[in-house]
Amino acid sequence: MKKKVSIIGAGNVGATTAQFVVQSGIADVVLFDVIEGVPQGKALDLAEACPIWNSSSTIKGTNRYSDTAGSDMIVITAGLARKPGMSRSDLLHANADIVKGVCKELAKISPNAIIIVVTNPMDIMAQIAWKTTEFSCKRVMGMGGILDASRLSAFLSWELNVSPEDIEALVLGGHGDDMVPLSRFTAVEGIPITELLPKKKIVSLIERTRNGGAEIVAHLKSGSAYYAPAAATFQMIKSILNDERRLLPCAVYLNGEYGIKDIYMGVPVILGKEGVEKIVEFKLSKEEKAQFRKSCSSVKTLIKKLHI
Ligand code: NAD
Repeated sequence: MKKKVSIIGAGNVGATTAQFVVQSGIADVVLFDVIEGVPQGKALDLAEACPIWNSSSTIKGTNRYSDTAGSDMIVITAGLARKPGMSRSDLLHANADIVKGVCKELAKISPNAIIIVVTNPMDIMAQIAWKTTEFSCKRVMGMGGILDASRLSAFLSWELNVSPEDIEALVLGGHGDDMVPLSRFTAVEGIPITELLPKKKIVSLIERTRNGGAEIVAHLKSGSAYYAPAAATFQMIKSILNDERRLLPCAVYLNGEYGIKDIYMGVPVILGKEGVEKIVEFKLSKEEKAQFRKSCSSVKTLIKKLHI
């Protein structure tokens, strides 16, 4: 029997993640949304594509939580997306209520699920999901760092005119405006970008990465990025369901790692069948540490606003 992945929110990110999962054939999908007809219509459309993709995955669209019962994995994309001029934190209160509400329902009927939170502001929403479900923190994590690193890799590949396959980028910290892209650990086939590009150019590409989401929001006018976010989410799902043990930057609960306690923050982790199998710690430089701490305090400020 295939594993069951429930995707909560059948909007742009949710439906595109559903597409990647069923197209790969890795799991069966339940696509849930509060709007009647939307998950059903999108699921039917995706189900009708499966024969072309030679995929034996099934997909069901629903407005009933009961259909998600017994999920192995749950992806939370329910909530509001950014509009032009909005930051991720502008979504705080509305999305906190939504994430709390859905997690209460989901935890009861899928007590063994591993949860990936996508809804923004993601680090805070991951913390809410963990607190609400009372699941082990190994089974509740957030998607952000993979997307940010992928954006940086794309910009670097255009700048250096080299295949993105040969670029490895690392971005830590909160998935917000003060994320921490680490140029020291960003390399082309092992050659650090600091050896390949002038500092000024690196700074400008890092700045573009920080504004990567807003750049797309400004083009779209309504809605925010979803292809790359869904691809990043799918990479996490795949690593967990296939027990690939990929080392990926994800938002996880820190309990003293990197000198930080009691918040969700983006750090490199190994993802396998149990969820977060290991948090990988390494020494940050003084400057990197300062940036990381700044990012942590932005997340803490938002958490304080919510009193969680
Ligand atoms: P969207 O508006 O296209 O879809 C959101 C869906 O959630 C809608 O279909 C809506 O009906 C549904 N929804 C609202 N309340 C719900 C509830 N209580 N239960 C179930 N469904 C509910 O938005 P999107 O582009 O898919 O983005 C979804 C979220 O993901 C946003 O918060 C966005 O900011 C965030 N996001 C995060 C990242 C990241 O890197 N972490 C990247 C992109 C988007």
